Amino acid sequence: MKLTDSLQYVKGVGPKKLAELKRLGLQSVYDLLTYFPRTYEDQSVLTPIAELQAGQRATVSGTIMNLMDRQGGRRGMSILTALIGDGTGMLQVTWFNQKYLKDKLKVGRRVFVTGKAAYAYGGRGQFAMSQLSGFQILDDAEEPEQLTGIMPVYHATEKMNQKFFRKLLANLLTADLEIAELLPAGVVSRYDLLSRAKAFKGIHFPADFAELKQARQRLAFEELYLIQCGLLLLKRQARENSQGIRHLLNSELVRKFQDSLPFKLTSDQARTWQEIARDMESPLPMRRLVQGDVGSGKTVIAMLALVKTVENGYQGAMMAPTEILASQHYEGFVRQLEPLGIRVGFLTGRLTKKKREEMYAAIAAQEVDIVIGTHALIQEGVQFAKLGLVVTDEQHRFGIAQRAELEKKGSLTPDVLVMTATPIPRTMTLTVYGDLDVSLIQQLPPGRQPIATFVRKPDRRTLIYDFVHKQLEAGRQAYVVCPLIELNEESNLPSAEEVYDELVHGIFRDMPCGLVHGRMKGADKEQVMQDFYDNKLKLLVSTTVIEVGVNVPNASIMVVENAERFGLAQLHQLRGRIGRGQYKSYCILVSEMKTENARERLKIMADTTDGFKLAEEDLRLRGPGQFFGSMQHGLPDLKIADVLNDMDILLKARQAAQETVQDAAERHDILPILAMQYKEQFENITDT
Ligand code: ADP
Ligand code: MG
Repeated sequence: MKLTDSLQYVKGVGPKKLAELKRLGLQSVYDLLTYFPRTYEDQSVLTPIAELQAGQRATVSGTIMNLMDRQGGRRGMSILTALIGDGTGMLQVTWFNQKYLKDKLKVGRRVFVTGKAAYAYGGRGQFAMSQLSGFQILDDAEEPEQLTGIMPVYHATEKMNQKFFRKLLANLLTADLEIAELLPAGVVSRYDLLSRAKAFKGIHFPADFAELKQARQRLAFEELYLIQCGLLLLKRQARENSQGIRHLLNSELVRKFQDSLPFKLTSDQARTWQEIARDMESPLPMRRLVQGDVGSGKTVIAMLALVKTVENGYQGAMMAPTEILASQHYEGFVRQLEPLGIRVGFLTGRLTKKKREEMYAAIAAQEVDIVIGTHALIQEGVQFAKLGLVVTDEQHRFGIAQRAELEKKGSLTPDVLVMTATPIPRTMTLTVYGDLDVSLIQQLPPGRQPIATFVRKPDRRTLIYDFVHKQLEAGRQAYVVCPLIELNEESNLPSAEEVYDELVHGIFRDMPCGLVHGRMKGADKEQVMQDFYDNKLKLLVSTTVIEVGVNVPNASIMVVENAERFGLAQLHQLRGRIGRGQYKSYCILVSEMKTENARERLKIMADTTDGFKLAEEDLRLRGPGQFFGSMQHGLPDLKIADVLNDMDILLKARQAAQETVQDAAERHDILPILAMQYKEQFENITDT
């Protein structure tokens, strides 16, 4: 059997199970093999019942001595209790609402149970077992010893239980399954890795914990290595496979623009600009990421680079993730660059067909120098006459593929500048942006007043909104952010719509208020945002749609309802909407703080404004799954590696990938494997 074979050929899979497996996204043998255990149960030791200790997990094997079946509880559920004896003592095991077991459990049958031991209620020193993770009825021929060992625990479903998955994987791994080595032989030996076949066997059915560790390391290495190969090859392809643009040293126009700025660059900005200018002056295409916290002043950096490309006779493009952000940039660019004689164009999907086609023509004829736009910039019809630089703002909202689309819009390979405020921990930049060089802007421009953040319980809401009202009277504007759009009976959380109704009919009835959320039509949404931007609305109730990049310096106060529902990184992004002007700003996080975790996270929010630190805390408290889930970076999901805890493996994998990319033979061998494993991300890489 091969890894690409359908699961229908695996022993134990009928049409029904096949459909169930498919529902979980498992279709091929490989899918099943990479359905990694969620955890493991150490069943390597059988404990005699007499030696059970309350509170400890243990595995017991015995014979059913007695069975009891009754209805109980308020809803009259079925309660099945078995008394199990092994010659040393008696153990009570109870199942709730599992009627199907009734026909299977018979007095005299031998069973095998893993769970947590506790004193049985009313059982006078007898033990009961709860939290069962392993339970099997032994066939006549089966010996309990065959079931001992370190057992995998899978994400089971109602129709496919642990036993099913264990059997299925056991069948699969003993059959004549071909698991060919995927990694170059040189890598396997240089890094002393377990073979791929052994690793898959070891991850599902390890003989001991040492083998499990080796198996996991090997598979995590493989995953990270392949992704690193892909990223490094992308970088190489862009650098060496293509004719870059050699910009000249900064001169007149760049200097004029810099002189026209009302402020001096911060030293981080100045260093970043130097790095960019150096990249642009090199004949190799630039691929640089500017990572800077919200409000750190990335836009002016993009402007400098765009002015430089224009001065060199090229065109520049800047893509923003939302209409409002694109139009804000557009206004700013027009205001600051047109006086220098630079022609700025605007392209979004909302233009009329006629306007759009006029813009296409202007772009193609180089009648505009800089085009600001949304995804519309990567549409079919857009063809630049002489594209020299591509900037993507708020990169975390775009995938790798979209960035690549824009790069293809000219005949030469343009320089690429990517800007993001997603504060990802420094150590992880490698995984997420492994194909880019990185510049960091860590300091904020001088004179910013730090945002004062408070955490308050909902019983203080009247006071909170009185305070907001006073701020509005003083001329400021305010955001109120809610996690949900509309009333949700189950969750009982105040929704954006409800909060809006409550506020406009209550304390804010004398103020123009707006409501904006993701389910509104694009045009309506933009209108509300625009009105807030134009100070026609004083208070904006919203969901997280305002999270990205909007710049309203007059907004100085934000209330976040049910703040515990947001991740720290997200709260940080939200909070970045205020404190952008000369006014003292306030962020008030409203939460019941029912859990310790919520309390801890919100306290961190109140105590720190450093985006990187918050991201690290967020990752620590929420785990990488959720953290990465919220970032659309276009990279494949990690199935086994853990970016937070596998840093050592990541560094080795990165090194191995670098060696592979340098080595013509290894590089050649890895390309088809990348295309197979990560089609979406790395299919289009070619060797040089
Ligand atoms: P972000 O990095 O979040 O995109 P922006 O580029 O929108 O930040 O900048 C936020 C604000 O800071 C803008 O109003 C901008 O004019 C201002 N700014 C940028 N750099 C400086 C600086 N060196 N000194 C003072 N103000 C600055
Ligand atoms: Mg920005």
